[in-house]
Amino acid sequence: MFSRMSITRSTESYSENIKQLKDALDAAEAVVIGAGAGLSTAAGFTYSGERFKKYFSDFIGKYGFSDMYSGGFYQFETPEEHWAYWSRYIFINRYADAPKPTYNKLFELIKDKDYFVITTNVDHCFQKAGFDKARLFYTQGDYGLFQCSVPCRSETFDNEEIIRGMVNEQKDMRVPSELIPVCPHCGKPLVMNLRADDKFVEDDGWREAAKRYESFLQTRSGRRILFLELGVGYNTPVIIKYPFWRMTKQNQNAIYACVNRGEAVCPGEIAKRSVCIDRDIEKVLYDLCRINT
Ligand SMILES: [Zn+2]
Repeated sequence: MFSRMSITRSTESYSENIKQLKDALDAAEAVVIGAGAGLSTAAGFTYSGERFKKYFSDFIGKYGFSDMYSGGFYQFETPEEHWAYWSRYIFINRYADAPKPTYNKLFELIKDKDYFVITTNVDHCFQKAGFDKARLFYTQGDYGLFQCSVPCRSETFDNEEIIRGMVNEQKDMRVPSELIPVCPHCGKPLVMNLRADDKFVEDDGWREAAKRYESFLQTRSGRRILFLELGVGYNTPVIIKYPFWRMTKQNQNAIYACVNRGEAVCPGEIAKRSVCIDRDIEKVLYDLCRINT
């Protein structure tokens, strides 16, 4: 549909953009939020620099990792060391509070609207900020869940207790062997429930969320919908970005908004019904909240 896409950037000023987005939000009968990694980066979940050094200086010293991701892909020699790394990683990115209240600001803006969230983020920030779990679809998994590495069945396991245990009891970059998580059914190692390959488990909760998202879109079809895209890049555009463009094109009453520093664009076909803001998301949400009052 957008095969010969002419991508356009916003020509209005920032203050005009904010006003347009605020008006679209006020007028919307429903808001569909699509959130990518940029939203969590804006909330302070950075995976390199000071924050990485603060929690992983010993691993940096031993392996020379430059950021949290590269350590996450590293094949450690023992599961004890693997889980020493991963338990810290999960703890600071899933169980510790977000450094900035970005998600809370977003919730303030849309909590009284008819909303639904689809996100590729796996850090649970929406629920922590108060978003209704029944209005969330985490497509790529959750740092807070384990699954069987085989997997022997489509089941996931809450990992908070075991992650906290591994964080507290690790020493010299190793967790005690008895804390290494194994599948209660087949005894094989547990792994993170993250979409990395075809072994990703879509459990009952995942499938129900997918259905609720579909149903939300169907039942609001043709209405004044604001598709609000926040920090979505081009890693997996088929999950949020391209469907948002397509649905905006199909529904003459829909508005597409894209807030993303450096990548705030839309196809020419929907440019008249789009608001593209090339700024830090934290700043944009702050300014939207301000004109709210
Ligand atoms: Zn199993």
